[in-house]
Amino acid sequence: MAKTTAGHSHEDWTRMAADLRFPTSLLIDGKQSSPSAGASFTHLAPRDGSPLAEVPAGDEHDLDRAISAARRAFDEGPWPQYPPRRRKELMLRWADLIDEHRDELALMVSLEMGKPIDDAWGIELRAVLATYRWYAELADKELDESSPVGADDLALITREPVGVVGVVTPWNFPLTLSAWKIAPALAVGCTVVHKPSEYSSLSALRIAELAIEAGIPDGVLNVVPGRGSTLGRHLGLHPRVDALAFTGSTTVGRAYLEYSAQSNLKRTWLELGGKSGNIILPDAPDLDAAIATAAWGIFFNAGQMCTAPSRLIVHQDVADEVIAGVVARAAEYQPGDPLDPAVGMGPLASSARMADVREHVERALQDGAELLLGGGASETSGVATGGCFFEPTIFAGVSPDSALAQQEVFGPVLAIVTVKDDDEAVRVANNSDYGLAAGLWTSNLSTAHRLSRRLKAGTVWVNCYEEGDLTVPFGGYKLSGNGRDKSRHALEKYTELKTTFIHL
Ligand code: NAD
Repeated sequence: MAKTTAGHSHEDWTRMAADLRFPTSLLIDGKQSSPSAGASFTHLAPRDGSPLAEVPAGDEHDLDRAISAARRAFDEGPWPQYPPRRRKELMLRWADLIDEHRDELALMVSLEMGKPIDDAWGIELRAVLATYRWYAELADKELDESSPVGADDLALITREPVGVVGVVTPWNFPLTLSAWKIAPALAVGCTVVHKPSEYSSLSALRIAELAIEAGIPDGVLNVVPGRGSTLGRHLGLHPRVDALAFTGSTTVGRAYLEYSAQSNLKRTWLELGGKSGNIILPDAPDLDAAIATAAWGIFFNAGQMCTAPSRLIVHQDVADEVIAGVVARAAEYQPGDPLDPAVGMGPLASSARMADVREHVERALQDGAELLLGGGASETSGVATGGCFFEPTIFAGVSPDSALAQQEVFGPVLAIVTVKDDDEAVRVANNSDYGLAAGLWTSNLSTAHRLSRRLKAGTVWVNCYEEGDLTVPFGGYKLSGNGRDKSRHALEKYTELKTTFIHL
């Protein structure tokens, strides 16, 4: 019987799911706190459409309480005044607790948004732990500068925490993407008010409860779930929030820039959507690996990845082999119960996502793209009970200007474009309003350097895809956003640069 990396079988996870207890309160000022209006909403599990839990929903009044707590914790301390090594110790203790609760958190993520449990445990929670530990360790290792201004003066260049940070996140890699913001913000001494996605609020509350248990002081990390259009807006417009770190769609990212412009010009950092081009050239060092990665890339997390290689740009000399190979590989990703370790792809996150993906498919058919595989709900996977299972879907002969090649689907739908040479491949890859990532498969070192320089994307993967490390930054060009998550560069979002010029 298949077991996950954690050593549990399908039956084990199903039993653990039945016993799982979900948070029932907001987290404000280090305490569990009931929503002022007593509001909640029912979260439906994408694996079978059943009610999973009642999610406590805050309103503007609750958010004001959370912002006041974060303000107090920043303005009066002790968090920003702690020696950095003290923040490090507390964040490491929090990471240890996350590690102890790894099964529980992975299960919560899997049930909430449908990620296969092995990916939740092995990929999501691994990244979360690595992120909190890495930024905790960095807290006491960043040095300030002094400038050579002459014998009679001393000029100090210091980085100071920006203040209260609003963090707004999506549901697709909920704990990781939140950690990419919360960890560097806390490490430098900021305090945080987190508004998680409506589809991943329970895991956000649970992981923050562990922060309190670890001894992170009251008010430093507050979590208030609720509707984006009301609560997210209130956070974006709030005059007492100093910076806003957002990951989500480009449409909502634009709204956050408007909120900032209409309020206090809070620093607004955006990690947004993508429509990444993955170029396969005839001299790919290992065509089978390129094919397997192209399929894995679009079906991993059911295609709900900002970086998904959703446009496969293949050279005509290898197009037939690559297309046949990707279609064959797609068989490994038939969707099924995310708690089954043998399943390659889980459900989409919600019925709204199902409807949205279906619309993209219908539009592609109208535009004349050739449907090679899938295209609808997966009837064998439990859709009858309300599960949100969509088939792995592949279109070939896609026009680079068509809606399918231009719009983010955020589902398991691959658009294949065939090109005649390197130049056309780069032109097609760059023919996008987005610029988050790109892939390139070639064994020629010069081609690799030459083309990757020309690709307008925050990350270019050569002969691999979705590789990463905490030491390297992540973010987008163009409509994919601004600023960078991960690495030392993320600290720039959460600090102000101060010059102190002293005449001796
Ligand atoms: P979304 O933009 O709908 O929601 C993101 C967050 O914004 C949620 O917390 C939501 O409640 C809030 N929100 C929604 N409407 C709002 C409004 N009017 N005002 C204020 N806040 C509002 O995105 P999603 O569906 O949760 O996630 C999918 C999107 O996220 C995709 O476009 C994907 O590409 C993008 N994404 C980007 C990255 C990246 O790092 N670049 C990573 C993951 C996901």
